[in-house]
Amino acid sequence: MGTPRVGSGISVAILFVLWSSGIQAQRPVELQTTDAIAVERYVDVQRGELPIIISAPHGGSMKLPGVEPRSGEDLPDNASKFVTLQDFGTADLASAVAAAVESRFGKRPYLVVALPHRRYLDPNRSPREAYEHELAGRIYKRYHDHLDKYCLEVSNRFRGGVLIDVHGQGLASDTVFRGTQNGRTVQFLRRRFGESAHVGKESLFGLLSQQGWKVHPNPLDGREQPGYNGGYIVRTYGSNQTYATDAIQLEFGRSYREKSTRKKTANQLAAALQDYAEKYLQISESAGTR
Ligand SMILES: [Zn+2]
Repeated sequence: MGTPRVGSGISVAILFVLWSSGIQAQRPVELQTTDAIAVERYVDVQRGELPIIISAPHGGSMKLPGVEPRSGEDLPDNASKFVTLQDFGTADLASAVAAAVESRFGKRPYLVVALPHRRYLDPNRSPREAYEHELAGRIYKRYHDHLDKYCLEVSNRFRGGVLIDVHGQGLASDTVFRGTQNGRTVQFLRRRFGESAHVGKESLFGLLSQQGWKVHPNPLDGREQPGYNGGYIVRTYGSNQTYATDAIQLEFGRSYREKSTRKKTANQLAAALQDYAEKYLQISESAGTR
């Protein structure tokens, strides 16, 4: 086995020369193309203890190494609007809502937050429209695997729950738009508690209005704003599907998600969620389920 040993020695020498002459510049390229890049760091997740799930797909600002921004070139003809702008402040707002819910209820909500910038992936689109690079695809999968798992878990543990999908819109700074596909994604709630649970004074948006928020639709039983009336996430994880989770998209105007107002917004939403939970949710786990 003498020869291989000589060979190994030469290889080591060559590798050393390569390393000392600029292999550092190549290293990132190697990392980009390997499956070894962990996707965990690109999606914040928290398993909860309450039938409340908070999702924020568009608030991220992280770059993806070696990934080009999406071009939107190969989208199907019937694709949803191609958008690469971030929903500014909504990742931090979602985390602040989770913290405010935890301090109010004494238990944690479920949380799923995408951290890459929307120019690389859009978790609020179907897989076909969401990404153009396999790393972005794996991050997308992690996001949705967790939403699916958490919505199933909440459906079983608590026999129902609410999914709050946090977004930002630039149409009206002082307004928060509701998106439920005009009630379709909150069917479970409406069936059990009637239309007032969705559009009445004690619906979530009614309660938020009582907190001083300017909400849309106004009146609450009006039509939801086209474009903000509920995207892929609420349509996929709402009670129009097999989940017992009622899914509501919240499109926050700028004034609710600026750094100086986020905490107040989060506290008010947590307060409304507490009222909502008392009326429509079962906070303790169902007997015989885990
Ligand atoms: Zn959004």
